[in-house]
Amino acid sequence: MRCPQSGAYHRAVAMRSSPVTVVQISSPSYTGTTWLCLLLGSHDRAFTLGPPDRVWALREKNFEDACRVHGRDCPFWSGFARRYDPKANFYLQLADHAQRDIIVINNPTPAHEQAELCHPDLRIRPIRVVRDGRALACSFARHLKIDLHDAITEHVQHLFHRFPMEDDRDDLLCFRYEDFLGAQRDSLDRVGCYLGIEYPRDALEYWKFDHHITSGNAGTIALLKFFQGLPVPNFKDRAFYEGQFDQMRQGQAAFDDHRWRDELGRRELYYFDRFCGHGNAAWGYAPDAFTTQEREAFEADLEGKAPTPVLSAAPDSPVIVILRNLGRRRRALLAVAAGLWVLSLAITAAMAWVLARGVA
Ligand SMILES: [Zn+2]
Repeated sequence: MRCPQSGAYHRAVAMRSSPVTVVQISSPSYTGTTWLCLLLGSHDRAFTLGPPDRVWALREKNFEDACRVHGRDCPFWSGFARRYDPKANFYLQLADHAQRDIIVINNPTPAHEQAELCHPDLRIRPIRVVRDGRALACSFARHLKIDLHDAITEHVQHLFHRFPMEDDRDDLLCFRYEDFLGAQRDSLDRVGCYLGIEYPRDALEYWKFDHHITSGNAGTIALLKFFQGLPVPNFKDRAFYEGQFDQMRQGQAAFDDHRWRDELGRRELYYFDRFCGHGNAAWGYAPDAFTTQEREAFEADLEGKAPTPVLSAAPDSPVIVILRNLGRRRRALLAVAAGLWVLSLAITAAMAWVLARGVA
């Protein structure tokens, strides 16, 4: 894709017609979207919000502590709080306060979309991003503390139809995260064309830009703090992100997270292939190959596991969703606790009966 006009032309047109563009990234959890949001916000016409629901929920609290970079000391958000009018559109006010006409967000809830993103003065530019389902399965397992089988069957399996890969259209851009990582400059230019802007040469060094992101991956946001010399409280995976930052400052690939290759054994890869292979291939990822012996052995193991999940079903009740999110280990603990509770009730009832007989 080639930009038909120069960046100056697009800037002039955008400023003249003054609609506000909202870049709306949709992606599964753990797709590296915080990094992408910060990258796309590294332009003098763009402002990155991240997932917008957290800051939106802070409207009645004066946007206190909204900024994940500067915390309560953030001059940008305290300034916005002073001028914010709850009766007017949030994005139009934000664009005016930031003096930017492109706002980058990801994965808003339907409630937020309906309340703020349907305004006629907003131009929505959707971008869809997916990531290898095997990497997602490991991230789900790691973050939700569930086993890989549950991560595959209860989470990743349901993502493929929600985030279909499509050819680029005038009103939609689709990316595989790994492709973006592998050709960052070209990918950024592709987004620039889609938005009608030219990204500066150093946009990949997103930590050098003025960001006030309000939600997202703590590690990716910590890089902004490392660069600005701000205190960074201890967070999970700190060593990993410090290593990534060192690599990125030396111009090497960013967030090339291959941890999943070590975390998935042959058996887990087979489970993944069994439940998610088709969907992952539709996203464009090459499947793993297995020998006949492996297939037979792993199938025998699977028979001892939970029944094959249903691919599409009616929406689950909130209780079912909560139980699913607990993972197998915590569900087992819950079952033991429930059993003990029932047992204690039975003992209490028996004692009451014995005592009542004694009195009689
Ligand atoms: Zn800030």
